[in-house]
Amino acid sequence: MFKIPEGPQQIIHMLEGRGHEAYVVGGCVRDSLLGITPHDWDICTSALPQETIACFSEFRVIETGIQHGTVTVLLEGEPYEITTYRTDGFYSDHRRPDHVEFVRSLRQDLERRDFTVNAMAYHPQKGLVDYFEGQTDLINKQIRCVGDPDRRFQEDALRILRALRFASVYGFRLDDATARSAFSNRELLRSIAGERIQEELCRLLCGCKAGVMLTRFTDIFSMFLPEIGELAAFSKNGAGWPDVWAETVRGVSSAPADRLLRLVMLLRDIGKPFCFTEIRRGSMRFYGHAGISAELAGKALRSLKFDRATISTVEELVGLHKIKLIPSDRCILRQLSRIGEAQFRRLLAVKRVDLAAQENAERDKAMWRLDAVEKCLERVLAQKRCFRLKDLAISGRDLIMAGMPQGVQIGNTLQILLRLVIDGKLENTRDSLLAHCLKEGWFGHEYKQTECHADCNGNQRHYPSEY
Ligand code: ATP
Ligand code: MG
Repeated sequence: MFKIPEGPQQIIHMLEGRGHEAYVVGGCVRDSLLGITPHDWDICTSALPQETIACFSEFRVIETGIQHGTVTVLLEGEPYEITTYRTDGFYSDHRRPDHVEFVRSLRQDLERRDFTVNAMAYHPQKGLVDYFEGQTDLINKQIRCVGDPDRRFQEDALRILRALRFASVYGFRLDDATARSAFSNRELLRSIAGERIQEELCRLLCGCKAGVMLTRFTDIFSMFLPEIGELAAFSKNGAGWPDVWAETVRGVSSAPADRLLRLVMLLRDIGKPFCFTEIRRGSMRFYGHAGISAELAGKALRSLKFDRATISTVEELVGLHKIKLIPSDRCILRQLSRIGEAQFRRLLAVKRVDLAAQENAERDKAMWRLDAVEKCLERVLAQKRCFRLKDLAISGRDLIMAGMPQGVQIGNTLQILLRLVIDGKLENTRDSLLAHCLKEGWFGHEYKQTECHADCNGNQRHYPSEY
């Protein structure tokens, strides 16, 4: 039916050589049947964990998942998870089974799995084992729980989000009973750890049907992102009010399938319900919404236990998504100096998608301006123009060598020089920079009294008084 690579074939062969059963199972079977190359091959076996370990005594074996029956074997550097057939005990916290029980029947092992499309096993000679019509569901493109959906979602509420994730990634729908049950059990998602939700959410957002899922199951997302519920409710509030939730969804769907960009698109307008002004009937302004949305986005991502880098990147992009970019060297270099090249490129992508999602008469003009900004960005980067302290032709050491007292003024002076270079007021050469410092009397005893100003990064700095 489909071909299994050497590694898992060998594992199955070795387990069978000792009298055990073994199959590839779960995601790799689903993906193979869909014609997608699986990213890993999981194996299930009738062998108990210690029996599995005994089979692979000549290989490196990692025992970290052993209490759940999983042993990882390294074959030519490639890890394979081998899990003993098991049933899951009761999920008293709706998260993890209280205990697992090892069993000798494949059917029982497949029964504990979440969806029919994930509950198939495959053997290179015996073929497909499909007790719950997973293959039919694959053909019909639907996600359906194995057994009673209410019971399955009550055992582990994360499955609600997994169902939406699989549907979004594969472009499937939820079968009716599964969808109804996902809705009615949605409150249980509140008991799921942020880290688990986070992973499913990111994968879901990057799926081809993310927009459909967000629209159809908004109330489910509101369980762990209440701000989304507010946004959707706001959109329904007044006749003729802009549908900000629809704009959000359009933004998510049309953004490149990148987790950071899609998170930004999801959260970019969550501040709107808190800062709207109806300037005339049906016409709205949302002054300062980017800043408020950034703050709320940070809070939401923290509650889902995102890492710090993701939080600050998303927060910054949400906060900047309405910033006006001008296609001038000076504006581009200043922005580059502030947020760096990678973030600048993300900002351009966000602005493009944000604009495209709007119904705005000025849209085409703004799009042309973004094209010009991008051209200008490519040009200043190709020219290797100076926008970071490390691009300056002199360093703090040079200033000290030239007689500037050590201390805070070194950093401040470099910042001023950088800004002058970015603004085209000074040439970025050693001679011109040192000559400027000399002319201004910034060396030795003549170093002037300083005052507080914001530098080009927006930080408060002490600069010589004329700046
Ligand atoms: P992918 O790796 O692409 O996310 P997958 O199907 O392999 O897809 P995993 O999370 O790796 O998903 O899980 C492997 C298998 O374990 C699933 O195919 C499914 O059979 C089972 N499974 C995983 N999580 C659950 C769960 N919460 N409840 C029941 N079965 C689960
Ligand atoms: Mg997997």
